[in-house]
Amino acid sequence: MSERFDVVIAGAGPAGAQCARDLAQRGYEVVLLELESEDEFPRQSNKSTAGTFPSMMASFGVPDDVVMNYTDDVVLESPSHHYVQNQPGAVLEFAEFKQWLVADAREKGAEVWFDARVSRPITEDGKPVGVRYNGDEEVYGDIIVDATGPAAPLAKDLGVSDLEREKQAIGVEYEMAGIDIDHPDYADLTDSMMLRLDHDLAPGGYSWIFHTGGDEAKVGLCYIQNDSHRRHGKEGMSIDDYLQYWLDTDPRFEDAERLEGKVHRGSAHIQTPGDLTTDSFMAIGDTVPTIDPLWGEGIHKGMQSGRVAATTADRCLTPEEPDTSRRRWRCTTSSGTARSPRGCASAC
Ligand SMILES: Cc1cc2nc3c(=O)[nH]c(=O)nc-3n(C[C@H](O)[C@H](O)[C@H](O)COP(=O)(O)OP(=O)(O)OC[C@H]3O[C@@H](n4cnc5c(N)ncnc54)[C@H](O)[C@@H]3O)c2cc1C
Repeated sequence: MSERFDVVIAGAGPAGAQCARDLAQRGYEVVLLELESEDEFPRQSNKSTAGTFPSMMASFGVPDDVVMNYTDDVVLESPSHHYVQNQPGAVLEFAEFKQWLVADAREKGAEVWFDARVSRPITEDGKPVGVRYNGDEEVYGDIIVDATGPAAPLAKDLGVSDLEREKQAIGVEYEMAGIDIDHPDYADLTDSMMLRLDHDLAPGGYSWIFHTGGDEAKVGLCYIQNDSHRRHGKEGMSIDDYLQYWLDTDPRFEDAERLEGKVHRGSAHIQTPGDLTTDSFMAIGDTVPTIDPLWGEGIHKGMQSGRVAATTADRCLTPEEPDTSRRRWRCTTSSGTARSPRGCASAC
């Protein structure tokens, strides 16, 4: 017998795990399916620099334990200038943050199934009623949520998400020690998140140093492989080559070395979200995508979208006769507050 839940969520990233936390807290039966193994989680999906701000920490009750370093400033750097903005933030240990989200969702009553690769929706009369995972395994729900990030197997199959290859940003990052955090030729990066706009280092994108304490930092870069990248890029260089080029040429890295095993890489689409829903289905986080198009801040946005999805599901499942139709989603989300089904029908 296949199991049945109120809500089935694919993907235990910030968006999916937050959605599960909120739904479980409200007493719904929710299952979170994650493709990675629990003992290594997150290995492949440990991709984020995880710089964030107090508004995210406070809104979602993130504990100090998962913070590597609290920062005071955001520094913007160009090849010839820098600008310091006093803006408190936090650099998270992304793997521990994801583990905490999942543990908290479980504590609130959600089921979390690891080693569960979701492949496609199960539909009846064209409406999603469950998901297929690990080949031919099935799980059913009143509402299905795709939070698998750029993979988006459910949203793509249902025609909800249209992630364009041309808009895909790729990123790579090393955690490093021995960095000259306060070099005389540059801004003082002690307790700062620094973003550098420099086509020589990251054509069509930007690079960063996020201080994590002492002489250590997360150092990385990302870009979109678009016209700007092609115009400014160097023939035959991969993203790893660009990062190595920066490490070889910037005096702040003269005595720096990579911390073993601490390399993170991933991608996200930088494009305007299109559709988010169809009947009994919502797509959230990088699946949509919700990431900030300018600076790539995706954690807070993804968690907010997880919360909105949970609120919407709650509103649709609460009435004696639950209504999970697309028309219902629209009425719930467009105004922020839902109308009664009667009021909704007349308004529509
Ligand atoms: C290099 C880099 C640096 C970044 N730095 C920052 C930063 O400093 N600050 C910030 O706010 N944001 C940053 N981001 C963006 C941020 O990490 C993402 O926006 C955020 O992780 C999106 O969360 P999500 O839950 O939507 O998706 P994801 O984090 O992608 O999570 C998706 C989850 O779904 C799982 N999954 C995938 N496919 C399947 C499947 N078929 N079945 C089941 N499970 C599946 C994955 O294993 C993963 O656990 C960065 C991103 C990158 C790539």
